[in-house]
Amino acid sequence: MNTRNAYALRARASQRQSLPMTGVVPGAAHPAGVPAAAPFGLGTRQGSLPARMGGDRHVLADRVANARLAQCEESVKGRFARIVPALQRVVALQAMPEFAERAQGVVREALGCELPARLLDDAWATGFDVKTAYAHCVFEALAAATDQFARDIREQVEVVQDTRNFFLDCGFHSVDISPCADGRLKGLSRYILRLPLSSFTWRKAYAGALFDVEVDVRNWTATELRRFREGVPSTVDAGTRYLKVAVYHFSSSDPAHEGCAAHGSNDHQAIDAALGRLKQFRQAIENAFCCGASTDILLIGVDTDTDSVRIHVPDGRGDLSAYRFVDNAELYAQTRASTADAARLAVYEAVRAASRKGGWASGQGEPHDGMRRLIVNLLINNLSQIDYVQERHGGRYADIGHAERYISVGDGFEELQMRNVAYYAHLHTLEEGAADMDVGIKIFRKLNLAHGLPVPVAIHYRYDARVPEARERATEKARRVRDAIRQRYPALVAGGDLQCRLSVQDLPTGSPIEIIEDQEQAR
Ligand SMILES: [Zn+2]
Repeated sequence: MNTRNAYALRARASQRQSLPMTGVVPGAAHPAGVPAAAPFGLGTRQGSLPARMGGDRHVLADRVANARLAQCEESVKGRFARIVPALQRVVALQAMPEFAERAQGVVREALGCELPARLLDDAWATGFDVKTAYAHCVFEALAAATDQFARDIREQVEVVQDTRNFFLDCGFHSVDISPCADGRLKGLSRYILRLPLSSFTWRKAYAGALFDVEVDVRNWTATELRRFREGVPSTVDAGTRYLKVAVYHFSSSDPAHEGCAAHGSNDHQAIDAALGRLKQFRQAIENAFCCGASTDILLIGVDTDTDSVRIHVPDGRGDLSAYRFVDNAELYAQTRASTADAARLAVYEAVRAASRKGGWASGQGEPHDGMRRLIVNLLINNLSQIDYVQERHGGRYADIGHAERYISVGDGFEELQMRNVAYYAHLHTLEEGAADMDVGIKIFRKLNLAHGLPVPVAIHYRYDARVPEARERATEKARRVRDAIRQRYPALVAGGDLQCRLSVQDLPTGSPIEIIEDQEQAR
């Protein structure tokens, strides 16, 4: 909980400099698997800076991008962190004349939003409803953060194209990524891998990274059909591949408790389950279409305490092993004092060395050149994030466990790419997700209810505007799920301790979020 205050303090300190959020160009393509001369296009050489105790940064860290991402993190988390102090001030104003105007002024100044007039007008008789006001401000902070990311995504068109070209250059016409739905992986694309969200052709999070093989086979079919009919993004005879990536996670500080909840914090189980799904996917394509050679699979692990990745290196036949990987935390430590060229070479060598490992990790030779280049670039990109966590969070997040601000029910806000902001329950009916929801409520009993604050639940579904009445159906679904949630926790509802906001959103990434019903009206 105290990390929330830390964000507020830093947010205030950083308001003096307001850097815009812009895209981060991934490592540039380079020929024949040789590391690029300057993957980040940095104008400065940090290696030439004098090393100071605790003040030196990794030679390959993209400091400009890190400063922008820090500003973004502080502004988003700061918005949530300022809610409680602002409402405390409002409560203290209650006995004052012109309470409504004064209160509105405080909230506007601190949070950049307004409270519903009804909450203030009735306050003299009923008392100021802090719980409803708190939930309202959380939802407004969520809306502002989503807006900020959506703007950022719209400005990233060129970077997205660059990244897709880079994938294509590595021999991948489509990249489909499935991380675990854990809130600590929400910053995966923007922060951990430093790739724009929309550079991935398909992306969907699943509890435990247990992606739906049938859905992925349909995605594969749609991608290949488009290549066949339109030659986009590469023609059928181009020999490029479809890449499926699964992302599991673990906790290096507290492996037995803060790992993947879907696998009981058992890392072996998390890895084996993700590997199993990847193999099933490749097998399904081979069995159904006799063209397994056109798919590649890749497994990435994330240490959610430090954001460092492990990339499992496929062998010459494209097979993966739980034991054959490059640990980027080790690489970071080894290369921190190197020159930029030596560090890049070390990354490249680490990938080669992984392929030469024996015993449990042994495989059939090295992956193809494009795969090696992709892995090298992902590792280099991630060095910046490890450095970011070093610089901003002392190398390890203070909130290695739960510090979520709201429960996200339904499709989630995919644009909001930030670690530990929401607890996700990806349910479409309460029956299928009741267990997820119960876990969420349990987490918020400690986070919020224990402090007299309600549980904010943001129920959000996507619809396809091209499909007649899809919006109405999504709206109906949101209402149905809200009613079911309210029925499941009647005591919380009665005490005003469960506050829902419903919204829908058209499919294209960055579409506006449409609030369909305010939580006040829903009561
Ligand atoms: Zn997980």
